[in-house]
Amino acid sequence: MFASPMLELHCHTTCSDGTLTPTQLVWRSHQAGIRALAITDHDTLQGWDEAFAAAANLPIEIVPGLELSTVYNERSMHILGFYPDRNRLQAPLKERLDGRKRRAQIMVDKLAELGYPLTLPERGEGMAPGRPHIASAMVRAGYVSSSEEAFDRFLGSTKPAYVGYEKFSAIEGIELLLSCGGVPVWAHPFLFRGGTVETVLPVLVEAGLMGIEVYHPSHSPSEVRRLEEYCEFFGLLRTGGSDYHGPSAAGKDNHGTLNSEKVPIDLLEPLKRAAEVIKKGH
Ligand code: AMP
Ligand code: ZN
Ligand code: FE
Ligand code: FE
Repeated sequence: MFASPMLELHCHTTCSDGTLTPTQLVWRSHQAGIRALAITDHDTLQGWDEAFAAAANLPIEIVPGLELSTVYNERSMHILGFYPDRNRLQAPLKERLDGRKRRAQIMVDKLAELGYPLTLPERGEGMAPGRPHIASAMVRAGYVSSSEEAFDRFLGSTKPAYVGYEKFSAIEGIELLLSCGGVPVWAHPFLFRGGTVETVLPVLVEAGLMGIEVYHPSHSPSEVRRLEEYCEFFGLLRTGGSDYHGPSAAGKDNHGTLNSEKVPIDLLEPLKRAAEVIKKGH
């Protein structure tokens, strides 16, 4: 898509459902030619410090971020946040993280009722559990032969053990990020199942949305062009990233390989400036 592969604004680590630690992710990103790397774990900032430390002696800049799990029209919607003030976001985020833990427990309870009792491995306080962890536990227990099978039979959004996120609207998510100095960006809009992009986008913009994740492995070239046009029309920032979840997850379930979107580094400065503008306004 672009000539100089350098910016990667969507990645997960073991602090949520990625399979690489923040340190491993930073090293691999450096090898893949990435100049600036965002850590965007689901509902947690836990990976930041390790990533900053790992990047300290490498020519790679860490962009602190997260991917908020929200609900819009009763369907899952992901909102990326870049450069939020950690001190302000930490407390409200704990409620979201606790919600993820409650949700994981309800899914485990449902599986037990279905005849598949499980114990999830203990994870640290700031670590976000997700369906991939439950799927792995089912594989280890011998109930299914692969994580895909676990999703196909139990954990997919229409399957018997599925539980949606606790009520936290996309509008609330956008407002929370803005109030904490973070830049709110709609993640992978064409994966959203609760309405068309053209009807939903104006509502999010009205709420304060500042950007769109235009470049994502799930988007077709024509979808990318449409999103570029929307950015132009609404004056929104463009971001992009692979949604990398680690080597074993690459290519599956709309997750790319590191740097797969080949996003130009030029998109970083406008994002930084937007973060400064929000912080000045508060
Ligand atoms: P959660 O945030 O707990 O709803 O889990 C979402 C994650 O589950 C995604 O990031 C994917 O890694 C994974 N996932 C969702 N659907 C599937 C699927 N059909 N097959 C495999 N993994 C999936
Ligand atoms: Zn994920
Ligand atoms: Fe997502
Ligand atoms: Fe993601």
